[in-house]
Amino acid sequence: MSRKTIILPKGRRARIGSPWIFSNEIRMDEAAKAITPGSTVNVRGEDGREFGTGYFNPKSLIAVRLLIDACDTTIDRDFFSARIGRALALRAAFYDKPFYRLVHAEGDGLPGLVIDRFDDVVTVQIGTAGMEKQLDNIVAALEARLKPKTIMLRNDAPSRALEGLDSYVRAAKGEGARIALEENGCRYFADLAQGQKTGWYYDQRDNRAFIAGLAKGKSVLDAYSYTGGFGLAAAKAGAAEVVCLDSSAPALALAEESARANKLTIQAVKADVFEELERLIAAEEKFDIVVADPPPFVKSKKDLEPGAKAYRKLAKLAAQVTAPGGFLLIASCSHNIPPERFAAECAAGVTRNGRVATLIRSAGAGPDHPVHPLLPESAYLKALVYALD
Ligand code: SAH
Repeated sequence: MSRKTIILPKGRRARIGSPWIFSNEIRMDEAAKAITPGSTVNVRGEDGREFGTGYFNPKSLIAVRLLIDACDTTIDRDFFSARIGRALALRAAFYDKPFYRLVHAEGDGLPGLVIDRFDDVVTVQIGTAGMEKQLDNIVAALEARLKPKTIMLRNDAPSRALEGLDSYVRAAKGEGARIALEENGCRYFADLAQGQKTGWYYDQRDNRAFIAGLAKGKSVLDAYSYTGGFGLAAAKAGAAEVVCLDSSAPALALAEESARANKLTIQAVKADVFEELERLIAAEEKFDIVVADPPPFVKSKKDLEPGAKAYRKLAKLAAQVTAPGGFLLIASCSHNIPPERFAAECAAGVTRNGRVATLIRSAGAGPDHPVHPLLPESAYLKALVYALD
């Protein structure tokens, strides 16, 4: 079957070099609409100019995601192996241990694909119909590059439904989803089959290291701790007291297990963060360092206003339990709230009641989450650290 071509009419120029082509930029005629979602296509201008090879989904707002800037490129195991090889080389520049996000979608030239590496275990997350069609090539390329013991497919993100994809979690190779990983010199456990997202949030690595650097001798509240990413890093760095607070019992059990493995002590509290913060405020309990890294409050654009308000309230309550002279980290993993808006809400929250605050760090995800330079909006993580008087 010959490859279909998507045409970009004159005047509706795709952003040159951007891997995204929107449905209103292409000639969406009957022929285009009839292309099976996820098919590999050539993209050309009306004048025949080459935009490249990509994959197409007529049902998606982002109708084409380009994989390479040449038409008629064969998308096979070797294509994926080359991209994964490039991603591996980049990670080798900043990490000496095999624990990192190996593929970060567009940032690594593989739109719709996320791969996390935990030594010889990898998790694969596919977000688009085009990538789903390439699953066998992806698995074969991983096999060629890394020969992993286990390849876990975590294809259960709710957003898959928008691409017409079903939800499933299964091992494409091997078994055993309970793994140990190392980060910032700390040993952690993760459950790659049942944990959230791919089982571990590598994106906060540098922010955890920053908090750990402040933590010696301090009391630390790790709110929305999940499996203890921030709290354990702080404990390892010599914090005097660490409380991990989360609503998930299995996540807290893993945090406690990790604490034992590192011969550290933490206190795991299962509670709703907003309720527990109100309780701590009423009891006048304070911590030298407070971390609040919640789930996304702005899941879609229409949630912006209520979500923004929730961030402001969280910042206000978290600042109230931060001791004078202490530090507060507040994070958002919602790409639907722009960084300036998030910063404005946090600023309003922490300075409520006349509290004096200075912003000492404004950061995103670590370098294993590269961003395509023409898609700055795909940099979803925002982490602000305030020093509070
Ligand atoms: N800080 C973590 C990641 C947090 S993910 C890390 O460094 O790895 C968000 C966490 O918030 C999840 O573990 C989820 O169980 C928890 N959560 C969601 N809603 C909550 C609520 N209302 N109260 C407490 N925890 C909540």
